Amino acid sequence: VPGTPELPIAEYCNDGSLLAYGNGRSYGDSCLNSGGFLLDTAQLNHFMAFDEATGVLRCESGARFNDILNLCVPRGWCLPVLPGTQYLTVGGAIANDVHGKNHHSDGTFGCFVICFELLRSDGSRLRCSAQQNTELFEASIGGLGLTGLILWAEVQLIPLSSPKITVTTKTFSTVEEFVQLSDASAHSSRYSVAWLDCMPSNVDKLKGLFYEGNHDRQDAPASLKTFRLQPPRLNIPVNMPSMMLNRHTVSLFNLYYFHRNKTNGSDQQQSFSTFFYPLDGITNWNRIYGRRGFFQIQLVVPEKSIETIKEILRLLSKTGMASFLAVLKKFGDKKSPGLLSFPREGICLALDITNRGDKSLRLLDQIETLVLEGEGAVYPAKDRHMSAMAFRNYFPLHERFVQYIDPAFESDFWLRVSGR
Ligand SMILES: Cc1cc2nc3c(=O)[nH]c(=O)nc-3n(C[C@H](O)[C@H](O)[C@H](O)COP(=O)(O)OP(=O)(O)OC[C@H]3O[C@@H](n4cnc5c(N)ncnc54)[C@H](O)[C@@H]3O)c2cc1C
Repeated sequence: VPGTPELPIAEYCNDGSLLAYGNGRSYGDSCLNSGGFLLDTAQLNHFMAFDEATGVLRCESGARFNDILNLCVPRGWCLPVLPGTQYLTVGGAIANDVHGKNHHSDGTFGCFVICFELLRSDGSRLRCSAQQNTELFEASIGGLGLTGLILWAEVQLIPLSSPKITVTTKTFSTVEEFVQLSDASAHSSRYSVAWLDCMPSNVDKLKGLFYEGNHDRQDAPASLKTFRLQPPRLNIPVNMPSMMLNRHTVSLFNLYYFHRNKTNGSDQQQSFSTFFYPLDGITNWNRIYGRRGFFQIQLVVPEKSIETIKEILRLLSKTGMASFLAVLKKFGDKKSPGLLSFPREGICLALDITNRGDKSLRLLDQIETLVLEGEGAVYPAKDRHMSAMAFRNYFPLHERFVQYIDPAFESDFWLRVSGR
């Protein structure tokens, strides 16, 4: 916090490397540091200033999105970018330059970061913004926590008419149709996302649901004043037996989901929590994948490589590697300030792949080959397998980025992709 004495961060450096830890909501190993220390930011969670006239919030980096939303929405302001969980921190959101269902209209979280203070391992505290320490600012947005510890940040919030969302659901059966629906709604809908059954018998007969949404304009301001995020409704108390998860059970679930949620195109009103955070409604949802867990992978390819998406769907279907939640989203062209930011214009696919050991790793290798051929990229926040060669291809500005890494900072992800 400004004005407090220097933090003794450098004292740890002789005993091992350092890495900031937000709330561990990254799926892969970018938030892990097996060879050193994690700097847990859970206590660094205070609000510092909020200007209700301009919507500028200053808070410590460990402040979580759910707490910020419960504070700001009743005052008519919303976080500008909402990923699929509310349990992440501001520091984690900056370090992964997170995106949400509004990427096509607003870009990434980094586009709304006004400034932050970065603590380096030598004890120096640098204020970074588009005007001050600019290169460090750009390296830290999407910088995977490797440039130092963000202490606090100032973020521009967006005004909110209502927390309720008016949602229209449409079906699609090909990836081309999904692209058409995305393009048609890009200017009229702030949010859009699609779900699909990713074990189709035929990629030209998909079961896909396209959701487009806007904040309700009719709703009275009363719903803002009384806003609270809904608590989880369900808990998965134990790991499910892995034999329950196979091609047949997943297909059955996906069929049920498709028919339950498809509508005839009429509008529906959804609560904030239902629309933005369906998974947060189930505590320990990851236990559905059993003791061995799963790999999540999220990739993006330019639209000209639409065939790559289809090829990956064919591969998933052929291998029968079950995935409930396959999500498709079309990213827009708004550039992020981050040197290593993942989102870029194109078609984005996110998948869960059950952990079946070598079989799953082989599938991830095959997906990597396809993404490289398609000139796309994989999201580091949702990865624990990408090769050093793939990383260099996915992130062409990595050579500029490495100059800004704090020499005492390290992560398991970075050890792997930097080939050390
Ligand atoms: C259900 C679910 C849905 C998700 N949906 C999306 C989505 O739609 N879009 C999306 O982009 N992501 C999504 N994610 C991923 C998640 O939003 C990101 O991984 C996010 O960065 C996690 O934040 P965290 O605070 O838990 O940070 P962690 O996972 O703990 O850390 C993430 C990175 O941030 C760094 N870091 C954390 N705090 C600081 C700090 N104070 N200073 C410097 N570096 C720091 C860490 O070192 C690490 O590199 C989802 C995750 C889940 C579980």
